Amino acid sequence: MKAKKFLSWEMFLLIILILEFVIFGAKNPKFLMPRVLFASVNDFIAICFIALFVTFVMITGGIDIQAASIVGLTSIIIGVGWQDGGIFDLPVTEYDVDGSICGALSGFFIAYCGVQAMVVTLGGSFLYAGFALLVSNFSASEAYQGISGFPDSFKIISKFKLFGVIPSQLLVFIVLIIIAYILLHRTKYGRSIFLVGINQEAAEYSGINTRLVILSTYVLSAVSAAFAGIMLTSYLGTAKSDLGANLTLNIITAVVLGGTLSTGGKGSVIGTALAALVIGILRFGLSLCFRVNTQYLDIPVDYDNLIEIGSMMGSGGLIVMDEDTCMVDIAKFFLEFTVDESCGKCTPCRIGTKRLYELLDKITKGKATMDDLDKLETLCYHIKENALCGLGQTAPNPVLSTLKYFRDEYIAHIQEKRCPAGVCKSLLTIQILPEKCKGCTLCARNCPTGAITGKVKEAHVIDSEKCVKCGVCIEKCRFGAIVKK
Ligand code: SF4
Ligand code: SF4
Ligand code: SF4
Repeated sequence: MKAKKFLSWEMFLLIILILEFVIFGAKNPKFLMPRVLFASVNDFIAICFIALFVTFVMITGGIDIQAASIVGLTSIIIGVGWQDGGIFDLPVTEYDVDGSICGALSGFFIAYCGVQAMVVTLGGSFLYAGFALLVSNFSASEAYQGISGFPDSFKIISKFKLFGVIPSQLLVFIVLIIIAYILLHRTKYGRSIFLVGINQEAAEYSGINTRLVILSTYVLSAVSAAFAGIMLTSYLGTAKSDLGANLTLNIITAVVLGGTLSTGGKGSVIGTALAALVIGILRFGLSLCFRVNTQYLDIPVDYDNLIEIGSMMGSGGLIVMDEDTCMVDIAKFFLEFTVDESCGKCTPCRIGTKRLYELLDKITKGKATMDDLDKLETLCYHIKENALCGLGQTAPNPVLSTLKYFRDEYIAHIQEKRCPAGVCKSLLTIQILPEKCKGCTLCARNCPTGAITGKVKEAHVIDSEKCVKCGVCIEKCRFGAIVKK
């Protein structure tokens, strides 16, 4: 019995999860910082929410690939409703109605008309994505821009942190795991789901309304997708019709990796929850600890290939950067060039690049909010679409590509008021480590502002009021006693 437990798939997933923590934590200690780790949850929590209930669908022998488009549909309905005013008077659960209708519609065709689940939900994903675009036409904002400016009462849903650290999304995930676990593993309804997956005919003969059971799993899955749409919109502060566009593959992977049989009849909520965490932590850990997006390691360095991945080719040379280069600062550096070079003929480039620069400057000074990050991204797309010539059209590229591959650095500047590369002066403090300082006085003699004091052979100290963070003292100290924090 003990051997069976040890070898259970859930236990195996737990070991993988622990290994991820050990490996990523050893590679980069920042990975284990609670605020960094918990902040990463936002990037994959939608996968966790939805995968829990797609498990129900797949245990019945079905599949649900429409959930991701319901995320976008819910988001844009919230956005358009907000623009028209007043819908925030409704409780959050009211926004799940669109999800339950979508799920019931697809579930009806699958359970009562006998159409294949793959066909129905594939059609559903196109239908709901199209419907989301249609709804976005009612908005005054462009579809790619999204709708922002939501009230704090809505944003608080995702901003709340238990003990100031544990995000509400994680708490909600735990509650959903408990609900899904009880439903699937501790109720008659859950047993019916398994029985339908093992042998639908036998389930029918034993008195189970199999069609209703199948339909209900699609409703649950769609409601969880709508709920994920609410949480994502609240977190990002922006409603977009394509919000869940890249979730489908991750959701299905999490369910299958969690031990659910694609042919139905077998699966577990705990397995799916662990698999979703394994996938989410892997994605976050790889980008935080190894930085390099390995899929582009062998990309040919030519104009077309670089343009395709959102980069561009100049004529100067190849710049290699490491973890000591701040990605927000480097985006600001490239944008400064474009601001200077803009001829001023068209407004998106003349004014837009300046506003982009100001937003980046705000981020590097630790004064920006997550709303500013949304504005930054939206403005980038607006400039790309509307600038007259290539200079303006490519100006936002450095911002968009750093946002794509190093978003965690932007978030560290905004939420943690921290520059991971130790470059942005406003977010730095220069400190002398007393245990390493030999009292040689070299730093004090070279400090241009007289910020360092101390006696010979005694630990020196820096007056942070006088320090201009020039870094001279760090270069001069031969004992590694001065650090940036
Ligand atoms: S996009 Fe081209 S035309 Fe428009 S302001 Fe910039 S440089 Fe001038
Ligand atoms: S240069 Fe280094 S060792 Fe010398 S006083 Fe300054 S901090 Fe201490
Ligand atoms: S960083 Fe520059 S200003 Fe600050 S203590 Fe060192 S030498 Fe002085």
